[in-house]
Amino acid sequence: MRKPIVAGNWKMHGTLESARALAGEVASAAAAHPAVGIVVIPPFVHLHAVRDAIGSADVALGAQDVSPREEGAHTGEVSTRMLRDVGCRYVLCGHSERRQYQAESNELVAQKFMAARRAGLLPILCIGESYEERERGETEQVLRAQVEPVLRLGGPAAFESALLAYEPRWAIGTGKTANPEQAQTVHHFVRSEIAHYSATIADLLPILYGGSVKAANAAQLFAQPDVDGGLIGGASLIANEFMGIVSAATPRN
Ligand code: PEP
Repeated sequence: MRKPIVAGNWKMHGTLESARALAGEVASAAAAHPAVGIVVIPPFVHLHAVRDAIGSADVALGAQDVSPREEGAHTGEVSTRMLRDVGCRYVLCGHSERRQYQAESNELVAQKFMAARRAGLLPILCIGESYEERERGETEQVLRAQVEPVLRLGGPAAFESALLAYEPRWAIGTGKTANPEQAQTVHHFVRSEIAHYSATIADLLPILYGGSVKAANAAQLFAQPDVDGGLIGGASLIANEFMGIVSAATPRN
């Protein structure tokens, strides 16, 4: 049984003060949702303050990116050890905005993913196709190409203690959400790709959906058998909305 996870990617928003306040609100509300893993992912420079604002609440800290290198003359980069040191447990690898605006290749993303694994962080590998790729019927091919370098570098075991996030690029920040059936079809495809190598690892792998998730549409998405929670952008900046999504992820049986 996979525990649902809802992660809030705060992107490049906010101030120190607003980050502290948002983290405090999420932390106060978290105790009411013990069945959901809650993760907040602020900008690097807010990590320390957010960690302090979370305190002992059951909310994990994540980073938006990481260097594939361990240490040295790499100005502007942040290492896995630095992330561990500041209290991070999760790190996004290959968010579509980094692929698009920082030209991160599938190979570089896989190197970041493996660096995170080696350091004991939980990498969240973000994958997704553009609108044009979907229209051309290339979704599966694009996703396979995004996952394959990780399998090449780390084998199926790379996906133990890791997460995937399916985020169709056409749905991120656009207000267009994949419908539940579209999300389920893709999540099932990705899980079966990993299952070719190890059914056990595929079965335990949390696959989050991301792309314009809101409290109002989250429950239908999370009801799909292969959707294990969400990676939330815009809606994670409003504590009530984010906690509404967390609530929608609570297993009901
Ligand atoms: C994201 O940034 O990962 C994301 C899914 O953004 P939004 O929820 O705003 O579409």
